[in-house]
Amino acid sequence: MDQAAAIGLTVPSIAGGMCAIFLCFWHYNRQDKAALVFALAFTMCAVGFSLNHFVLPKESLANAIIHNGCYVVGLWFLMDGIHRAFDRKMPRATIMTLGITSVVAAGIVNTVFDGLSVRIVTTNFIHGAMMIASAWALRSIWQKSWTGTAVMSAMALCILNLVIVSPLTVFGRTITDETFFQSAYWQIINLISILSVLAMGGALISVCVMQRLEALRDDAETDFLTGLKSRRAFEQAARPYCEARSGEYAASVLVFDLDHFKSVNDRHGHATGDAVIRAVGHLIRRQTRTSDMAGRMGGEEFCLLLPGTGLEGAQTLAERLRKRIKILTDPDFPEGLQITASFGVAELGHKMLFEEVYPIADAALYAAKSRGRDQVACAERP
Ligand code: GH3
Ligand code: MG
Ligand code: MG
Repeated sequence: MDQAAAIGLTVPSIAGGMCAIFLCFWHYNRQDKAALVFALAFTMCAVGFSLNHFVLPKESLANAIIHNGCYVVGLWFLMDGIHRAFDRKMPRATIMTLGITSVVAAGIVNTVFDGLSVRIVTTNFIHGAMMIASAWALRSIWQKSWTGTAVMSAMALCILNLVIVSPLTVFGRTITDETFFQSAYWQIINLISILSVLAMGGALISVCVMQRLEALRDDAETDFLTGLKSRRAFEQAARPYCEARSGEYAASVLVFDLDHFKSVNDRHGHATGDAVIRAVGHLIRRQTRTSDMAGRMGGEEFCLLLPGTGLEGAQTLAERLRKRIKILTDPDFPEGLQITASFGVAELGHKMLFEEVYPIADAALYAAKSRGRDQVACAERP
């Protein structure tokens, strides 16, 4: 194998490496189907490239059909993975039609024309069209995130390579099996293919890494039983809200704690206790506005920050929650189980911080507990 041909091993080697990286992503998170699909895409790219340049006779019909088929399947996986990762609908019918057209056209052109030039231009152009159809469906991801911009830039490089650079380097030249590795087309396309695989691989690795980080952050910020914010996430949202709040707008804090919850666990078991906490979490989500913040502060204590709601509004919500908790039922509850809760409500004063209002609402809650539980206590208006 001469030097010009040997350099061609770079593309399948990089594609193979990319495949290994995406298989690792998938191995550590089997739900990440996009990573598996990316691994398959790079595998097909490596296989198609190797078959075309190193295994099958270049001008044979088998080469025209098989290596093109590999690229089409690889492109399909690539587009499918990107659409999955960004939650976009893939134009499947268009891409499928173009893919089949590319394989059929490769066969026909290979039989009708001598040399490789027409086949190269035709198939590259149709592969480019597959990517353009996909890029059009994905266009909104360009501005959505920096990973979206990276993926779209890598796609633009591939499209440029397939639709413009290939025809230009082939134009007016006859490329045959014997002259292929010495052609300008090979020199240029090999370099751009290396850049394309690196750019696309790098962009897709960043997509997988960011998705993993976001999933971990969501896990850390969400209470697993109720789906409400964890205490840390709640405080991280409530603190800056209170700091930035203009005193003209009312806001209140509501805290509540389930009554005699220890005895629920003792009498009915921990699983029932968990079911109660879960059901209360669902109730909170049903009964609050999207602008309200709700968190599980630990155990069976919950906190709500209610922007735009004064003391009366907060007290009304607390009363409503108290009554609903009293009649709360769930298929996982044992017969006759009744839950009650005690509430503390406080309104935020002018420039009051969360660290200041929370203990006031908490003190009101303990007043409600000491007055006999199953009731709402309001702190004095600041
Ligand atoms: P009070 O009316 O004074 O609030 O009495 P209480 O029994 O509810 O209060 P206490 O704080 O003594 O008990 C809270 C109990 O909540 C203790 C703990 O076993 C239980 N608990 C805390 N977290 C969980 C949880 O995630 N699941 C379950 N099942 N129980 C929990
Ligand atoms: Mg309690
Ligand atoms: Mg408690």
